[in-house]
Amino acid sequence: GNKTLAIIKPDAVSDGYIGEIISMITKAGFKVKAMKMVHLTVNQAKSFYEVHKERPFYNDLVEYMTSGPCVPIALEKDNAVEDYRKLIGATDPAQAEEGTVRKLYARNKQFNAVHGSDSDENAEKEITFFFSRQELL
Ligand code: ATP
Repeated sequence: GNKTLAIIKPDAVSDGYIGEIISMITKAGFKVKAMKMVHLTVNQAKSFYEVHKERPFYNDLVEYMTSGPCVPIALEKDNAVEDYRKLIGATDPAQAEEGTVRKLYARNKQFNAVHGSDSDENAEKEITFFFSRQELL
């Protein structure tokens, strides 16, 4: 697959890292296909993270993702899902490698600056969640 969905999450937006993070993404060879700033509603956040609904942190996650605007970005590159996850690093910045987005910009394992799709199938679903066909032309 050559597509993935990135989100610059509310903590990184309010910490002023939108520019730095987009710069890291494009320098790593990803092409920005679509991008917007959106303040998710509770229902939208619940729906986006439906796969995590049985996890103990689900309510905290929904509260976090609705706490302010975020920036979803549809990205294109060969091997996009895997290469983007490598670029952002481990979920918990304390475990993330030096030079990764989360090592540089995440506060902790909850407020961890960015999202990345975990499979080609989910990338497709997540891109469709945020962007219309028109916006992806
Ligand atoms: P993402 O799906 O956002 O790329 P991930 O796959 O690295 O993240 P998951 O384990 O799927 O991590 O968790 C989804 C998100 O839920 C994390 O990115 C983080 O914001 C939040 N989260 C994960 N673990 C916890 C936790 N123990 N407490 C609070 N929030 C958490």
